[in-house]
Amino acid sequence: MSNESTQANNLLPANIAALAAYSSAKSEKLSGTTWLNANESPYAKTIQLSVEDLNRYPDPQPQQVIDRYAAYAELESENVLMTRGADEGIELLVRTYCESAKDSIALFLPTYGMYKVTADTHNVAINALTQALLLNGSVDEIIDAVGSSKLVFICNPNNPTGSLTPLDKVTAIATALADKALVIVDEAYIEFCPEQSATKLINQFSNVVVLRTLSKAFALAGLRTGFTLAQAATLAPIRKVIAPYPVSGVVASIAAQAIAPDAITSMRRQVIILNALKAKLVQWLSESPAVLKILTGEGNFVTLKLADKNYFKIALEQGLVMRAFTLYGENDWLRISIGSEQELKQVKIWLDGLALPTASAISAQQEVS
Ligand SMILES: *Cc1c(COP(=O)(O)O)cnc(C)c1O
Repeated sequence: MSNESTQANNLLPANIAALAAYSSAKSEKLSGTTWLNANESPYAKTIQLSVEDLNRYPDPQPQQVIDRYAAYAELESENVLMTRGADEGIELLVRTYCESAKDSIALFLPTYGMYKVTADTHNVAINALTQALLLNGSVDEIIDAVGSSKLVFICNPNNPTGSLTPLDKVTAIATALADKALVIVDEAYIEFCPEQSATKLINQFSNVVVLRTLSKAFALAGLRTGFTLAQAATLAPIRKVIAPYPVSGVVASIAAQAIAPDAITSMRRQVIILNALKAKLVQWLSESPAVLKILTGEGNFVTLKLADKNYFKIALEQGLVMRAFTLYGENDWLRISIGSEQELKQVKIWLDGLALPTASAISAQQEVS
């Protein structure tokens, strides 16, 4: 058996053999009772489902979903491609626009992990730039650093730092890179600051692509639905690369309900509540001696630096699951998703426990005795 797998492994291209398995929030097999590690919405939906015709292949791009999303994004239907999550949009862009072993993509670290994972699987190089450059550098400095990279991924707001790249900067970058590179604005969290969306650039710029998802504010991470938004001519080659029937009819039916006008209204109400809860959480965090730094961002999450990495383990023991991160070379960062009021109370309980005669003092005592 091991011989067989060795032989199969010999067939692997070097870039695939070198891959480390992507560790998503959900692939880490943690146990817990309060889940604040994957930036999911706490609002579970009730969906009406009646699907017929499952003996037939589905509409490759379900028209009602496309039309409704176009209306929501204030674009035309030809500007909308429905995908299996925004993650598939990332993958399609790399597969369509990048040549293996030749092209590179630019990204600004720390940022969402799937850009690199996708590039690695397609043997496309990474031009690793920094959020500091993106936020503080001049447009000329940024363009210089981007060099000949084909795709430039701007996660806005950025996961996991929450920072926003102002729209006029995105515009200037897109202008400077016209005919040279696609500027891909990943707006997975844009519902939490909708006025910042780059969709208004799409009519003007053929090299601007916006990624969207139903996984965050729309509370449908389990559905696997995202959208790639761009000019029709920019999407046309991607339509040739995408799988023939990417979206199940079941998914299309649920997605259509989730972006009906009244559902969008209720999503917006939930966003207001979640943003208020975020403010409350930030207040608690800023009063806690267990927290050294807080990156308050525009998404449905807060990222912070702990005074002691072991505080994370204490949370796990309490059934409270948050996402640990290594940022800026330090492994004591934590990202907390904005859950329900109940769930955030668990965070408060954890924080208050840490502020007592400190956890590290207790473990020091244990060592002594
Ligand atoms: C969650 C997330 C995605 C993935 O969205 P899916 O639609 O669930 O694939 C993409 N980009 C960023 C920045 C995210 O945080």
